[in-house]
This record gives sequence, structure tokens and C-alpha cells, in this order.
Amino acid sequence: MQGKQFFDNHGRPIEYVRLAVTDRCNLRCFYCMPEEGIRYLPKKELLTYEEMLRLVGIMAGFGVKKVRLTGGEPFVRKDLMYFIKKLNEIPGIEGIHITTNGVLTLPHIEEFKAAGIKSVNLSLDTLDRERFHSITRRDELPAVMDTFHALLERGIETKINAVVMDGQNTDDIVPLAMLAKAHKVDVRFIEEMPFNGEGSHYPVLVWTHAKIHQELVRAFPSLSRRVDEAASTSATYSIDGFKGSVGIIAAFTRSFCGTCNRIRMTAQGTLKTCLYDDGVLDLRALLRNGANDAEVSAALLKAFGQRAKDGFEAEARRAKGHAVSESMSTIGG
Ligand code: SAM
Repeated sequence: MQGKQFFDNHGRPIEYVRLAVTDRCNLRCFYCMPEEGIRYLPKKELLTYEEMLRLVGIMAGFGVKKVRLTGGEPFVRKDLMYFIKKLNEIPGIEGIHITTNGVLTLPHIEEFKAAGIKSVNLSLDTLDRERFHSITRRDELPAVMDTFHALLERGIETKINAVVMDGQNTDDIVPLAMLAKAHKVDVRFIEEMPFNGEGSHYPVLVWTHAKIHQELVRAFPSLSRRVDEAASTSATYSIDGFKGSVGIIAAFTRSFCGTCNRIRMTAQGTLKTCLYDDGVLDLRALLRNGANDAEVSAALLKAFGQRAKDGFEAEARRAKGHAVSESMSTIGG
């Protein structure tokens, strides 16, 4: 199977899997989950590392080359670095990437390069300690900033992900963008989505990609669009005199689905072929009912062959009355 490339029913290659290694998180970001948290799954309902390794191995046979670990907070799961090293040994996997909130990350950074970690997306919505506390409901900004600086010192490719929230952190857009002046980082601003455990915060999204762009142009008139990689979710911009770049991710507007090469696996082993679907295949049940690799492959290929063409179609196909409202922590953002 090695070396094959699988294309979905819309001609898009499937090259990239985002793996939620846990649904647990040590922050309580209000745009992601309610203050009391979400009902976490009992451990036996999570995929084991062995199950994840087996599934990624099968997917590598279809041309999946890139793995992103997310969650929940990946570093909350025990023995994560052991798992990463094993993932990196799978033939065909060219790089491991991590999305983290940076709170528990620092002690592991020294091992990142040897473990095969190619880049880190660090979630950071504000540089103001009080605002960080009120958004995440935890006072952890200093730990996140220590992680940020350590990543750069170690020469690890780093992107900042900031969700833009009306009435919360729009004053942070410019200070966050300024991080890319002093440092070689890509600071990406993300439209808020209704994946928060309770449903949409706004009747209409105020801070759309267009409004974020306007704000950046106002502050940085030299903003100019770069050419992005084909499957990029981000529109990337240069600014004169900046070492890094800034980007805008139209996550709610969904303008990048045409080139989507990504699939997701939730912590309980549900396959999602779009962020906005409600799960298209129960991989955990397949594995635990004794399916062999050929049977798992056949089920995966069938799901890849029925992908929604975009996030709107995926959302429309969800079970009736099942609007988008689950926490991003259960999906793997
Ligand atoms: N715990 C890790 C972290 O914070 O990076 C990984 C999981 S977190 C769910 C992944 C990303 O999803 C974070 O950058 C977070 O800001 C983003 N996210 C969570 N809820 C979101 C929402 N409702 N809209 C947009 N982005 C969201």
C-alpha cells in the first residue's frame, strides 16, 4: 500500500490527519467550553496509543504524510513524547506537528527535534495577563510566554493562533501581530466558530476575515498577500520590516474547502472528514470488534469517497437537530 495517494470524491488528496489525543484540557477558554468544563470521556473510551498508531499506519498507506496532534491539550495526556517518537517511526509519515496551549509544553521542548516534531502552533489570544485569565479562566500567560520564547530559541517553526472575539480581544490584534515584527513567527487570526459546548455566541459573526483584514491594513498599510501553499487554511501577509508574517483563517466563512487535504480523528476514534460534520465513521468500534487492516482500509476509503464538498454541505448533512455546538476540545481543532 505504501506510496499510494488517495483522492476523495472531489479530487482532493488526503494527506493530513489531525489527531485529538485527548478531550481533556487544562484551560477553560470560554469560546471552546463552558466554565465547568465538558463531560470528559472515561479513559477506556479514548483510543489507546497502540490503536492510534495502527490507524495512522493504515492511513499512511493512502498517502497521509502529515500528522498534527491536538485535543484537548495534547500535553495533558501521559507519555505523549513516547507516542510521538513511535508515530515518527511510521513509514510514510514525514512530520509531526502539534497544536498546544503552551502551559505544560516547556519541559518537553528540548526533545522536540529528535522526536520528529516539525512545527508548533501555539494558541495565544492576548498578551495581557488579566485578559488571558478572563478568556481562558486560568492565570497561565507567563507559562505560555516561556514556551513561546523557548520554541524560538530552539529554532522550532512556530505559529501563533489567536481566535478573534468580538468585545474580548480585538484590541490585541495589533500587539499580537507585532510579535511577528520582532520574531520569525506567523501570527494567525482565526474567525470564532460556534464549537464551544453551548452554541453560537453571535447571531451574525462580527469579526469576519474581512474585518480582521481591514483592522490589519489600518494598522499596517504595507500589508501584502503572499502566495500560500495549495492546502493552506490561512491567507498569509507580509508587512514591511517584519521578520515574520501575519495570517487570517476564515474558519467560519469556510472559503478554503476546495483544497482541503485534511481529516480528523477524535479522541474516541470517530473519523471526521470535515470539521463541520458530526462524525462519519466509528473507527474505535471497528478496531475493538476485531476488524483486520484490510477491513479498516475499506471503511476509510469508503468514507473518503463520500466527503462533503465543503463545510456547509458537511453541516447540512449532520443528524437533524444536531447543530454545531460541541466543544472544540472533543473534536481536535
Ligand atoms: N489545547 C490545544 C490548544 O489550545 O492549542 C489544542 C486544542 S484547541 C481546541 C485547538 C485550537 O482550536 C486552538 O487554537 C483554539 O484557540 C481553537 N479553538 C477552540 N475553540 C474554537 C472556536 N470556537 N472557534 C475558533 N477556534 C477555536
